[in-house]
Amino acid sequence: MEISSSKDRFSSSSSCRSLLVFQLWCFLSLTSSSSSSLVVAASEQSPSSSSQLIISRFQQYLKINTAHPNPNYHEAAEFILSQAKSLSLESQTLDFVKGKPLVLLKWPGKNPHLPSILLNSHTDVVPAEHHKWSHPPFDALIDDGRIYARGSQDMKCVGLQYLEAIRKLKSSGFEPTRTVYLSFVPDEEIGGHDGAEKLAESEIFNREMNVGIVLDEGLASPKENYRVFYGERCPWWLVIKASGAPGHGSKLYDNAALENLLKSIEIVRRFRASQFDMVKAGLKPEGEVVSVNMVFLKAGTPSPTGFVMNLQPSEAEAGFDIRVPPTADPASLERRIAEEWAPVSRNMTFEFKQKASVHDKFGKPILTATDSSNPWLALLEGAVKKANGKLGKPEIFPAATDARYFRERGLPAIGFSPMANTPILLHDHNEYLSKDEYLKGIDMYESIISAYASYVEEETKDGVAREEL
Ligand SMILES: [Zn+2]
Repeated sequence: MEISSSKDRFSSSSSCRSLLVFQLWCFLSLTSSSSSSLVVAASEQSPSSSSQLIISRFQQYLKINTAHPNPNYHEAAEFILSQAKSLSLESQTLDFVKGKPLVLLKWPGKNPHLPSILLNSHTDVVPAEHHKWSHPPFDALIDDGRIYARGSQDMKCVGLQYLEAIRKLKSSGFEPTRTVYLSFVPDEEIGGHDGAEKLAESEIFNREMNVGIVLDEGLASPKENYRVFYGERCPWWLVIKASGAPGHGSKLYDNAALENLLKSIEIVRRFRASQFDMVKAGLKPEGEVVSVNMVFLKAGTPSPTGFVMNLQPSEAEAGFDIRVPPTADPASLERRIAEEWAPVSRNMTFEFKQKASVHDKFGKPILTATDSSNPWLALLEGAVKKANGKLGKPEIFPAATDARYFRERGLPAIGFSPMANTPILLHDHNEYLSKDEYLKGIDMYESIISAYASYVEEETKDGVAREEL
């Protein structure tokens, strides 16, 4: 681990704040000396112009092209650091991997002994096929109240909403009891190994930060309820391979490689249909079934013009992206793969390109508790309600997020992106978020951060930290 510059380490600045105070003073002097109609006009404008400022800061962040394979991480980090300065938050840049800065911000709590709150977001986005978008993906144009940009849902919205909520809380005079950290991490979209995983393993995380709860990304909800996630499916990337004697293209014989592979593909497809049927019938949510999708098929003997047509090949392979919920039994799935999908009896072998464990280091399924043993979920629900939002039933996230690196360490982590009445457009063309939903999301975080940062009940109950309070 390398810290980019020691003088940056949790430095804070109030210069921008002074500038804002000065601007406010000028504004007030101007309005108080003007006619009453002007004062009315100005006060009517003020909330909307502050909304405009909030939206323009979001647009600024969205315009920084942090798409893979060449994300502009430095510009994103500079932007976040400038926002942190304007909020007088302590900041440091962690360079766990060269060229991939991770920005860590800190809002110290009045009781530094209480476990802290970590608000995580990733700064990278997936690439966009520019010509398939109705608006350029890195211009953050607003059309009909919608902000079109790659990252508008996944998940630059959340990162900046955290900061805007803190801006509101600070201006209202709120002081956190618990310390609040914000991490802006790179590389989530390519596995998070050089981002959140490094942070979760780091000395600073394990020795200094004393994190008690992590908030990370969720998904948009087309309905009026916000979605909330307490776990996620684990990726198993499987390749099955069939081998057999090659043969003339005209010959019918047993155990040809492609024939054996096709038998397996049929079996896998039947399994896929059985899982999908449960989702379609409403018996299980998407995150609680095993999904399996074929992602490649490799067979044939190449020729200069394509493939040899009168030869049955001696090898054939297929690749599958399988997602396993922590509630599933991984041993029985593995048995199914060995006995039905790639059996030795059909000259088949298999290997995993990736196989994430559904269990944490204590051998338990990687799930954040949803019962009363976890006060953070109820606090979230209450805070969302207080801000006039509705929370749906906790779900398992269908894909992987950085939250797993924190859950693997036994920490509670909740996935939540406040986007209701919004189609799910992450990784899609024309990703957008409406201005109103974005602004409403800030109110949600204002309520959540205030509830989380003020929460002390947990410690008084066990008596351990009572004396510290
Ligand atoms: Zn994301």
